[in-house]
Amino acid sequence: MGNILIVKNPATGKVIKEVKINSEEEIRQAIKIGHDSFEKWKKVSAHERSRLLTNWSRIIQEHKDEIAEIMTLENGKPLSESRGEVDYATSYIDWYAEEAKRIYGRTVPASSETKRIVVSKQPIGLVAAITPWNFPAAMMTRKAAPALAAGCPFIVKPAAETPLTTMKLIELAHEAGIPTDVIQYVNGSGSVVGKMFTSSEYIRKITFTGSTPIGKQLIKESAETIKHVTMELGGHAPLIIAEDADLDFAVAQTMITKFRNAGQTCVCANRIIVHENIAEAFSEKLAKEARNLKVGNGLDKDTQVGPIINEKGFEKIVAQINDAVKKGAEVLAGNRYNADKDQGYFFVYPTVLTNVKPDMVIMQEETFGPVAPIITFRTLEEAVEIANSTPYGLAAYFFTNNYKTGTYLHDHLDFGIIGWNDGAPSGAHIPFGGMKESGLGREGGIEGIEPYLETKYLSIGNL
Ligand code: NAP
Repeated sequence: MGNILIVKNPATGKVIKEVKINSEEEIRQAIKIGHDSFEKWKKVSAHERSRLLTNWSRIIQEHKDEIAEIMTLENGKPLSESRGEVDYATSYIDWYAEEAKRIYGRTVPASSETKRIVVSKQPIGLVAAITPWNFPAAMMTRKAAPALAAGCPFIVKPAAETPLTTMKLIELAHEAGIPTDVIQYVNGSGSVVGKMFTSSEYIRKITFTGSTPIGKQLIKESAETIKHVTMELGGHAPLIIAEDADLDFAVAQTMITKFRNAGQTCVCANRIIVHENIAEAFSEKLAKEARNLKVGNGLDKDTQVGPIINEKGFEKIVAQINDAVKKGAEVLAGNRYNADKDQGYFFVYPTVLTNVKPDMVIMQEETFGPVAPIITFRTLEEAVEIANSTPYGLAAYFFTNNYKTGTYLHDHLDFGIIGWNDGAPSGAHIPFGGMKESGLGREGGIEGIEPYLETKYLSIGNL
């Protein structure tokens, strides 16, 4: 690999581009440059920061097709999903362009008439981000936009599989007028850049989206310099279908949350928990829809399910399916592959498994692939027990038209994001994030800017 990162198309295994890996010296310099820009950037008015962010969003939209093609080439997702992700990515920029102007402090009644108390907010300092390959645009803007809006300079290391989308977006940020020292990227291996970020005295905050083990490591490393951290980590989402649910609607929504991005999303339904009286009907409908999905190169306009990102991801999915089948799961759809290790592409056909049991690995670990394992339940308590029996707590879904059932599930599910009759609850305006080992902090909504701000309290006496 040397000092070159080879970016490949996961649909063909062909090289798209070679990207320079930054030397440690260059990364150190970039961190210093980012830090030095803080004094200047924090003094730029909130209205001007807002204007620059709005410019950035507009310019990204003007390049939407070009960015979508880059994303599909390096990530594999269908072009329509890449276009959707560009919109999703700019929605965060638009939202935080507005929030920049709403960073309010407050006054507090003092305990004595000779005092006044003022609470104000100030930017935290240089922010370093590490992002994953599955949403190369949105996971970056979800961090960059609130950081810049708050007055923090920003530096990002994108995933090795998908640096090109990030590089393009940052080039456009500079074109939009955001200074080159205020938003930067560096390329390099996660472990090397991660350590440089966490050990740097110049970086005040680490924001990470990726797997739980790496998140834990970054939290430990950040403790040395007491950095603020936001961690968006792994998920293992349950999707519960109650006996009274509208089955066709539930199937349609399950298709969206399960098979989008070939099942490689942190919020995608990983465990489908269906009431035993409707399980057969639901499973057959889901399997029929899954068999109809068109698998292929994301650049082909009919493609609905693209490739798995790499061999490691593919092997994990296949091992989970094999384990389930060995332990008695029945295959209603899929369990078919189109993979060539020598060429370097790996496709998994949408797979639906029934007769799934809690001891199967697929029920215990995040799959990150287009596999829908269906397990049944009899009572709501049982459904909740299955759903909560995981260290993860990112997203959960349930389908019911009974308000008592819905309220019970909402109250008892230990997850940060809940979709009630909704398989796509994400958005720039909502607080996205997980409980338990799925993370710390929230991104999006009014909550998403707070982690980039320090609270300063002023007490004025002798009045
Ligand atoms: P990953 O292996 O944790 O990689 C994510 C990023 O971390 C990459 O940029 C990677 O760099 C970097 N990295 C790897 N080792 C590192 C280290 N020792 N120190 C610092 N950084 C390091 O995760 P992934 O496989 O790309 O992404 C899938 C995971 O992300 C899943 O678990 C998924 O659930 C989670 N995810 C969570 C959310 C959320 O919002 N909660 C959203 C999307 C994805 P290299 O590429 O150079 O290795």
